[in-house]
Amino acid sequence: MKICVLGSGSKGNCIYVESHGTAVLIDQGFSHKKIDERLESRGLDTSKIKALFITHEHDDHVRGVGITARKLDIPVYGTAGTLDAKRNLFNGDQELIPVESGIIVKVGSLELLPFSVSHDAVDPVQFCIHSGKKKTGIATDLGFVSTLVEQRLRESDIIIIESNHDVDMLKNGSYPWELKQRIMGRKGHLSNRNAADIIFNLTQYKSAKTILAHLSEENNTAELAEKAVRELFDRFDRRLLSLTVAAQDEATTIIEI
Ligand SMILES: [Zn+2]
Ligand SMILES: [Zn+2]
Repeated sequence: MKICVLGSGSKGNCIYVESHGTAVLIDQGFSHKKIDERLESRGLDTSKIKALFITHEHDDHVRGVGITARKLDIPVYGTAGTLDAKRNLFNGDQELIPVESGIIVKVGSLELLPFSVSHDAVDPVQFCIHSGKKKTGIATDLGFVSTLVEQRLRESDIIIIESNHDVDMLKNGSYPWELKQRIMGRKGHLSNRNAADIIFNLTQYKSAKTILAHLSEENNTAELAEKAVRELFDRFDRRLLSLTVAAQDEATTIIEI
């Protein structure tokens, strides 16, 4: 399995997942041109991309979905609530396929299992993706890690987890109080501390390559996000397999398992 986070943050999100010659995109919150450039920058071939999955209807996840689906002539998968909320992005030519939490979708050798998350959207899901014995678990845009989320991420070889904000930066920052409350709330976003805790818990069963994603530009830095994880592992003398911080403006290197 090959994973590349093509970009992640409040201005756009898109993840490339490939196995045995078939690839899918999870979200497409960038212009098509930009995503095409990012794919090319990592030597990834658009002809392998067979489907686009959307997690929820927020702009940073769907901005380029319609155009990329048309250009690549691929179907778009999302929950009925998400697809309905974004009908305006599609001109009727795209195949829109509803998914449901708990029901596997197969695309080539990839098996994608959507699971519900708590976030302020109509019917948001995240995905775990299996291919053979390998597994990638993705969870961004969620207010807290429910038992279901933890179960779905367990046994992953790669974990892509939201590390949205440093709580002190958010509390002391310039956002209006209501927005701070929303971000920290049960339907908001995971903090660095939340991300560190879940990575720590998950990797006691199986070590995994970890990617921190969806960092806030206002309320976080890559250094703080990374430090939260490293400090927790150091405190308990636990080894971290690999840790990557996904950026808004550049694709990560390709991570293979
Ligand atoms: Zn988002
Ligand atoms: Zn969102």
